[in-house]
Amino acid sequence: MSDSPAGWPRPTRPLLSARTTYAMHALVAPRKPYRWLAGRLERHPLLRRWFTAGERITKQEIFGCQMCGQCALPATGYACPMTCPKQLRNGPCGGVSPTGQCEVHPQMRCVWVIAFERAERAGHGADLDLLQRPVDRRETGRSSWVNYWQGRDEGLWAAATENDPAPLLPRGPAGEAQ
Ligand code: SF4
Repeated sequence: MSDSPAGWPRPTRPLLSARTTYAMHALVAPRKPYRWLAGRLERHPLLRRWFTAGERITKQEIFGCQMCGQCALPATGYACPMTCPKQLRNGPCGGVSPTGQCEVHPQMRCVWVIAFERAERAGHGADLDLLQRPVDRRETGRSSWVNYWQGRDEGLWAAATENDPAPLLPRGPAGEAQ
C-alpha cells in the first residue's frame, strides 16, 4: 500500500516513557484551581487561544497530538490514537502486520501496538479493553485540558462489559476518576 499524503497523521511514539507519562498525569488532574482557570479561559477568547497554542506545541512535540480536543491518552498508554493514519480510537485495523508494523507506513510501528506495549509495561494493560466514544469533530482544535477540567471528558470511554475489571486509570487528588 502507498504512503499517506503529506500532513496526514503518522504513528508517533511518545518522547517520554510510559512510566513518566502516567506519573506526570497527576500534574494536570482536575482540581479546583484548574477548574477556575478553565472557566477564566472560556470567558476570554484571546487567553484561551494562547493557552490552546501552548497545549498544541507541548503535546505535538511529546505525543504527536492532533488536537482532537477529547484526549484519550490516559487510556491508551499515552500513545495518541489520532496519529494512526486511519485515526482509529478502538484498537488497530486489520492491516497491522504480524510484526506490529503500520499498514499505511510499513516502516513505522502501529501506534496501537505502541499503546499496548506502553500500557502493559506500566501495569495499565486493562485500559486497552475500554471502549472509546466516537470523536466529536466539533471539538477539533480546542484545548483538551480545558475540556478535561470542565468535566466534558466524562463518558469518553466505558467498560466493554459490566464484568470487566475497573480500569486502572490515574486519579486526581480528590479521588476523581479521569
Ligand atoms: S488531545 Fe486528542 S489528538 Fe491530542 S494527544 Fe489527546 S487524543 Fe491525541
